[in-house]
Amino acid sequence: MQHKGCFFLLPSKKNTGQSVGTVRDSTYHMPMKKLISSLLIVSFTSSVTLLPVMADSLPDLGDSAQTTLSRQQEQALGDSIMSQIRMSRDVVDDVEIKDYLNRLGGKLVAASPDPRQRFEFFIVSDPTLNAFALPGGYIGVHTGLIFTAQSESELAAVLGHEIAHVTQRHLSRSIEKNQNVMLLGLAVLAAGLLASRSNSGQITEAAIAGSQALTIQGQLNFTREHEYEADRIGIQILAAAGFDPRAMPVFFGRMEKTNRLYDNNAPEYLRTHPLDSARIAESQNRSAAYPYKQYAENPEFHLMREKLRAKDGSAVAQIRYFESAINDRRFNLEAASYYGLATALFRDHQFQKAHQAVVQARKTLSHPLLESLDAQISLALGNKDEAVRQYLAALGKYPNHYGLHYGLIQCRLAQHQPTEAIKLAQQQIAARTSNGDFYALLAEAYAQQGQESAQQQAQAEYYYRQGLLDEAIIQLQMAAHAKNNDFYRQSAIEARLKNLQEEQELVKKKGS
Ligand SMILES: [Zn+2]
Repeated sequence: MQHKGCFFLLPSKKNTGQSVGTVRDSTYHMPMKKLISSLLIVSFTSSVTLLPVMADSLPDLGDSAQTTLSRQQEQALGDSIMSQIRMSRDVVDDVEIKDYLNRLGGKLVAASPDPRQRFEFFIVSDPTLNAFALPGGYIGVHTGLIFTAQSESELAAVLGHEIAHVTQRHLSRSIEKNQNVMLLGLAVLAAGLLASRSNSGQITEAAIAGSQALTIQGQLNFTREHEYEADRIGIQILAAAGFDPRAMPVFFGRMEKTNRLYDNNAPEYLRTHPLDSARIAESQNRSAAYPYKQYAENPEFHLMREKLRAKDGSAVAQIRYFESAINDRRFNLEAASYYGLATALFRDHQFQKAHQAVVQARKTLSHPLLESLDAQISLALGNKDEAVRQYLAALGKYPNHYGLHYGLIQCRLAQHQPTEAIKLAQQQIAARTSNGDFYALLAEAYAQQGQESAQQQAQAEYYYRQGLLDEAIIQLQMAAHAKNNDFYRQSAIEARLKNLQEEQELVKKKGS
């Protein structure tokens, strides 16, 4: 197949064609001619549309004399792209799924060559087979890829490969080689990503001139080198983290098969991570060097996969899907199919039937996710006390489970017990690094108490963890103007505000 390569790539909306919009070139301090050549980079990796208004929100990445991105610039660019992605409805915002993916990713990162690099893993609701790394350690996976993977090790193989792109600093190395053309390409790519996710009709169509000066061949060879390196390091990460290294060639095989089904319309991942027989053979050889052993399958992967499926598209269609899968015994894990059915029934407000499906799932599996869903069903049925009892019982068995803690606090809020909710949320915030979700609950609890400035403080922390620095600062500014703050709260608000304003200055300055 034809090589089309760039590793950092981008979930594109399907069938966006080759359309690009107008760009205010002044945004980038670059002449228009260069801009067109950079658009070409975008075009052979993915179809991209561009909205000029979005480009304004990208950080200033400095003048064209600069040939490499510093780590801070890379982070600033990644943060900026990510905060925009988060606002799109396509990012899966389920606390249990996010927690699972980040725990899985965290295990791999801990076994990577750069365990101190910050990473965040997220899922984009998109049926195409794709995964991508953004600057700053943000790794996105499409639902289509998760549905294709048949085991946790296969998903881990893809994540390991993407982690390797980041730890090997392929982004910066590419920029070094291609200088600012690539840099600009990324900025445009970022803007294009945002535009492709928005539904605005203000996109001006324009053809990309195919003859613009760009050494495509050099770019592609370079990319292929990166792909081999990402495979090599990825397999090492996979094995070191305790996953099956053979899952990498197995998943490549699945991709190839999917590719044949797609005919000429190759899956996104193959376009962005070109795969050829030599690369597959090499990953087979590498994985064969590891001693053969049996790997226990993690049921949580299957539960999460079916939860994602249950939340995808129409609930009624998914209920039918799970019912027939269970009927025909077409599943990897029976309990996961019942859990998927229960989730789809829950979405369709068939709470009693959802509970029955959880009861079926429990017959073959004990898992905190089943208890969490059952408690949510009780809450939806209006049995708040029963839901609290279920959460507490489950936490007795699984004391660290993210979703159980989150659900219990939601119950306390439903019971209008904000003092209890605040206590629990603060405990989780102290105990966890990825605690944005708990700040959102904390803000809600303070709102129930009518403590406006405390609510704004918590809201600011939530925004900050979403990468929305400006919004966080606005919340703190409002909190600082509240009349009834005591001395300690006022000092804390002002100190944090100063802190975030300094960070904002730094982000602006880093570019120029
Ligand atoms: Zn790759």
